[in-house]
Order: sequence, then C-alpha cells, then structure tokens
Amino acid sequence: MSTTSSNMLKVAVVGGEGIGPEVTAEAHRVLRWFVDKRAVPVVLREAQYGIVPYLATGHVMPPDTVEAIEDADAILFGATGGPETKEVPPEVRKAASLLKLRQKYDLYANLRPVVAAPALSEAAPLKASVLEGVNFIILRELTGGIYFGEPRGIETLPDGRRRGFNTEVYTTDKIQRVARTAFELARERRGKVCSVDKANVLEASVLWREEVIALHKAEFSDVELSHMYVDNAAMQIVRAPAQFDVMVTGNIFGDILSDCAAMCSGSLGMLPSASLGPVDRFGKRKALFEPVHGSAPDIAGKGIANPLGSILSVAMMLRLSLDRAQDAALLENAVGTALARGARTADIAEKGARTLNTSGMGDAVIDALNALV
Ligand code: NAD
Repeated sequence: MSTTSSNMLKVAVVGGEGIGPEVTAEAHRVLRWFVDKRAVPVVLREAQYGIVPYLATGHVMPPDTVEAIEDADAILFGATGGPETKEVPPEVRKAASLLKLRQKYDLYANLRPVVAAPALSEAAPLKASVLEGVNFIILRELTGGIYFGEPRGIETLPDGRRRGFNTEVYTTDKIQRVARTAFELARERRGKVCSVDKANVLEASVLWREEVIALHKAEFSDVELSHMYVDNAAMQIVRAPAQFDVMVTGNIFGDILSDCAAMCSGSLGMLPSASLGPVDRFGKRKALFEPVHGSAPDIAGKGIANPLGSILSVAMMLRLSLDRAQDAALLENAVGTALARGARTADIAEKGARTLNTSGMGDAVIDALNALV
C-alpha cells in the first residue's frame, strides 16, 4: 500500500475479462467526471488482467499490473473468468487469481449494499410491495472459510474412487474483526445486525455464532443482534428483504446470498461492492471496488451489459477511500435520476421498453450528473 504523503488517491483501473472491461470503461468515465468536475484528488492508472495479457505475454497478471495494484490505494476491478480462460493452465490462473489478491492484501470486509430502486419496481422480479424500503448491506467475510481452508484437493482412493474435499474453517480473530465491522456499520445505519450461519450443522458456524455473541455483549450491546440459519436467510431475502439492515456472514454464504439479494435491486448487474483491508499505521486501508457480478460470458463482447454495479462501486470508492460522502451521494442520486428518466439496459427493462447499450447507460448517468450540479 502506498505510504506517500500526497493527498492524491492512487487508483488502479483493471477491467479484466468478459464484460469486466465493458462495464469498467463506463465506471472509469464516471470517475474521470469527478476528477474533472469536482476536483476529486485521484491519479488513475490502467492495467490489464486475464486472457488478453496472457496470450500476449504469458502472464495473467503482467508485472506492470502487479506493480499498479501494489502501488494503488484503491483498485477499480471489472471481472475475472469465462469459458475462453480454459486456454490458461489452471495453476497459472490460480497463482494470479482474484482470490489470491484478496488474500495478499487481506481484503477481509466485503460490503455489498442492496438497495431497491423505486424506478425499477416494475422491472424487478420481486413484487413492488416486497421491495418497499429495501436497503441493507451484506457484509461477507472474504479471506477465510471454505474458499481458503486447508486441506483441500482431489485424491484417488485405494479402491479407485476419487474424493474431492474442502475445509470450512474460521478462527476467532477472523470472526471477531468482521463482526466488529458489522456492528460499527450498523451504528451508522439502523442499528441492526443479523448474523447468518449454519450453526445447527457446522462446528465452524457454532464458533462463529459464539464469537459474534461474545463481541456483541462486550462492546456493542446498543446494536440489535439476531441470528439466522443460511437456508432461512435465502428464503427471507426474497420473502421480506426490508427486515434486514446489516447482514454479516462467512465467505461462501455471502457469495451465494448476495446473488440472491440482487433480485431485490432488479438485476445482478446493479450490485456494487467494496472489499476493505485492515487499517494501517497511516490510517489508510487498501480497498478493491468491483461489481458483484462475474464476467458474464453469455453477453460478453455484445456491449449490452449493465454498468451500474460498476458505476455504483465508484460511489463506494468516493465514500470509503476518498471520504467524499457528498460526491458519493451525488453519484447515487445521478443513477437514481437516470433510472427515473427511463434509462434501461436489457437486464432491467420492462417488457417492450427501449433499451440502452452499456455506453448509453454510462451517458445517461453522466447526463444526470451534469444536470444535478
Ligand atoms: P455472472 O455473474 O458472470 O453471470 C450470471 C448471469 O447474470 C448471466 O446470465 C449474466 O449475463 C448476468 N449478468 C451478470 N452481470 C451482468 C450485467 N452487468 N448486466 C447484465 N447481465 C449481467 O456469473 P456466472 O455466469 O456464474 O460466472 C461467469 C464467470 O464469472 C465464471 O468464470 C465465474 O467464476 C466468474 N465470476 C467472477 C466474479 C468476479 O470477477 N468477482 C464473480 C462471480 C463469478
């Protein structure tokens, strides 16, 4: 992480693969708008990641990208993955994966806000009455759990059967720090935390629940705490999502529940995220901002992806890395205005509505920004 005394935030812009570069290009334009029109102190550096640099250089993450990310205070990332990546040997991809990046910079707190935009109530798959007042955050622990647990592997048993195995593992420190983030977030919001686990079956979840309860009792008894099993949580997110304020959960549960929660906002393409590391001795924390969705190989290259998840990730960067809450609110307002004026990509369009392509939606947000200032 940068230790420069400059007040300029260094941002690496890494589009990645599939629809990643398409949506990131629009988020990048929006961030430039804030640099030009609102004097937001940012230095931008673009870097490549994925199949394109691999075919050209043999590196999924070329040295220039490694350096750009290392030097950055914040990373604006697009997406990784897709069928064409079969050309990349699995061990090469694994060594330069997003998971490795999250691990390297200890980006443990993954914030995924879920807000139901009133303008999309007709387009969303859930009923308008269910979506009324929906505004919550899924806080997903991002550096532990079954995605990182050892032992893991695929082995051949003496009788010839093959066995695949992974380990769901959480230590007290990893549970406590994400739970602390959840309670602190709740204090700035509506004061409610729902901790999601599978404590009726998994020992790792039993420990998770015990640690959350202990921290709550010791330091956060002013926050309302509830617990929910993950299977029930999946159902409650589509039955009555307005009940949630901050939902804190482990890595795999958060991964799955946030795609489910995307239906509250109308489309997976609408959800932004921020992944935060620990605060260092200079009071800074490395952060990665990216839409929740993946590389969407089914629509990649067509220029039709919804860039709003990526654009709203810029709003999270403005708020969390730049301390520019007013600019963050301005951008969220501009997205709301663009939607209220009828701007729609295909994934959020009402039946028969005219749709915009990816850059058309970027234009609509920038038009709204220009109109709001
Ligand atoms: P996905 O999120 O890429 O797509 C799921 C569905 O949502 C697809 O139908 C897609 O077209 C649609 N969708 C996603 N984003 C959209 C957008 N912005 N606008 C309109 N529609 C959108 O998930 P998947 O298909 O399960 O995975 C594809 C690849 O992405 C896999 O290789 C997976 O590993 C990877 N992935 C990467 C990330 C990441 O980079 N953080 C996250 C999830 C999945």
